[in-house]
Amino acid sequence: MNFHQYYPVDVVNGEGTRCTLFVAGCEHQCRGCYNQSTWSLTSGQVFDKQMEDRVIADLNDTRIKRRGLSLSGGDPLHPANVQAVLALVKRVRLECEGKDIWLWTGYELANLTAEQHEIVSLIDVLVDGKFEKDLADPSLPWRGSSNQVIHRLRC
Ligand code: SF4
Repeated sequence: MNFHQYYPVDVVNGEGTRCTLFVAGCEHQCRGCYNQSTWSLTSGQVFDKQMEDRVIADLNDTRIKRRGLSLSGGDPLHPANVQAVLALVKRVRLECEGKDIWLWTGYELANLTAEQHEIVSLIDVLVDGKFEKDLADPSLPWRGSSNQVIHRLRC
């Protein structure tokens, strides 16, 4: 998996202070997408073990109290990203006590594959659905258009 941006201290993608990772790769091609540079799976940089370790260390860094990890993109549930994202969320669950995980995807919860569901079973909040330009509303918290749904799965 590749990624485009990693913000170790972020307050705009989910509740509280967070670590936020924007992965590469998206097949939805939403009209009006602001992140077209992330569509290619080969764009950005490789998300390697060193980066994975850094995310875990940042979440556990007690000098800045972070509420959790946010995964966006691109699409963290792109089939080519599922293995790496699953490995990351499993580590957060095992190694980062008390941290929540938010994930944004263009897929819809009702139509996910078994592999995508395995990730969703480990996260707290899923924001799903494609960005629909005609339904865009900048006043909506944590989503770009009103068709997208915030699913609070564990909290
Ligand atoms: S799901 Fe997100 S990144 Fe993918 S095309 Fe739609 S708006 Fe862009």
